Amino acid sequence: MVSQRPSGIANRLICPACGNDEDFFELANDVILTSFYRQNSDGSFSHDTDASQINGDVMLFCGACEEDLTHYHQRFREMIF
Ligand SMILES: [Zn+2]
Repeated sequence: MVSQRPSGIANRLICPACGNDEDFFELANDVILTSFYRQNSDGSFSHDTDASQINGDVMLFCGACEEDLTHYHQRFREMIF
């Protein structure tokens, strides 16, 4: 699928509460995190990989004032490259 990268400053996500347009964070509910380990010959364990499965809602927040920006989440996901 070819995604068109929108151009222009009008497409920037800006927090309506504080004007922040740089820092954002996602919060996922009901996450199952599976961590894989490999046991070494001496009995110690090495962390291999993690796999996460999100069963709940994923919310988006402003990184500056923590305003709930979940309304913009769809657009946010489309703009991750
Ligand atoms: Zn904000």
